[in-house]
Amino acid sequence: MATSTSIPVSLPVPRIPRVRRTPAEIAAASPQVSERKVLLAAPRGYCAGVDRAVVAVEKALEHYGPPVYVRKQIVHNLHVVSELESRGAIFVEENEEVPEGALVVFSAHGVSPAVVQSAADRNLQTIDATCPLVTKVHREAVRFAKNDYEILLIGHEGHEEVEGTYGEAPEVTTIVNNPEEADTVQVKDPDKLIWLSQTTLSVDETMEIVRRLRKRFPNLQDPPSDDICYATTNRQAAIKNIAPQADLVIVVGSANSSNSVRLVEVALDHGAKAAYRVDFANEVDESWFEGVSTVGVTSGASVPEVLVREVVSLLADYGFTDVAEVTTAEEDIIFSLPKEIRGKLKEAGDEDRALGGRGTRPQSN
Ligand code: SF4
Repeated sequence: MATSTSIPVSLPVPRIPRVRRTPAEIAAASPQVSERKVLLAAPRGYCAGVDRAVVAVEKALEHYGPPVYVRKQIVHNLHVVSELESRGAIFVEENEEVPEGALVVFSAHGVSPAVVQSAADRNLQTIDATCPLVTKVHREAVRFAKNDYEILLIGHEGHEEVEGTYGEAPEVTTIVNNPEEADTVQVKDPDKLIWLSQTTLSVDETMEIVRRLRKRFPNLQDPPSDDICYATTNRQAAIKNIAPQADLVIVVGSANSSNSVRLVEVALDHGAKAAYRVDFANEVDESWFEGVSTVGVTSGASVPEVLVREVVSLLADYGFTDVAEVTTAEEDIIFSLPKEIRGKLKEAGDEDRALGGRGTRPQSN
């Protein structure tokens, strides 16, 4: 069971959507709508970093046995966290809540060196499930700080990933939250300046922030490669493709999932008449369907497909039975599991899983 200070994630996971009106009643409320269809964005849902982090906790539970402590939500999805909690994971906010010497998993969002040190101080065994694409940004921060650069970190202050990256070089890093801050941020040397970013931002808004920064600081350097990750970019491109045709977009994802929240904004910015985020199918409000012919559906990078299927099933109850998947990119990235757990799996003869996440394709990181 979770300690009293753990993250309150033990929420009931609703399974059966509550249909309050019949499809005929909904149809009667929108006589002008002759066809009802669903456009399912692809790619959507689980990315390689989330898959790796969730499998790491599952494997830790299997091979070390519960309890396995996890610092912060392993990924930002209520359903995933609740499922892992039911199997014996204990989610905590800080290392201080983990008993001395126990096993703790660091979440996919990454941790600062101070968090690694505090785990060492408590003799904790650690499994680092930080997404390799977040680790890449950490390494950039360290490298540019060592070379005397000042870093403008575009991201949302308070988000775990931003806390971790900022913590790599706090003395030379300033967080830029939005375009307005790009107009006012102060720097010491505008000729030795680089911007980095959180991996899950809106691509369009980030480019606007960079445009404004570069107007003030023409010698601002770009990161060596994109910090906004492939999964964020692909999911935004997929919903941009569907949004102009959609009277309504439903994004499945949790409120604290940055990339899920961004998908709602991107849908609205690119022509969707309405867009809402839900954790579960039973949060869908039937009033959203009035006058709606086409519903776009997508999900954030931390969302298991089962939750999308429940939304699609609910839509079918309301007469949206014509479902077409619209694919804008293929993804085949798989990350190998954290090294701390790979050795353990090899010892146990679980070598296939040591080489990858849930999928069967070969590792690619
Ligand atoms: S959204 Fe991107 S950065 Fe975050 S876990 Fe997934 S692949 Fe990694």
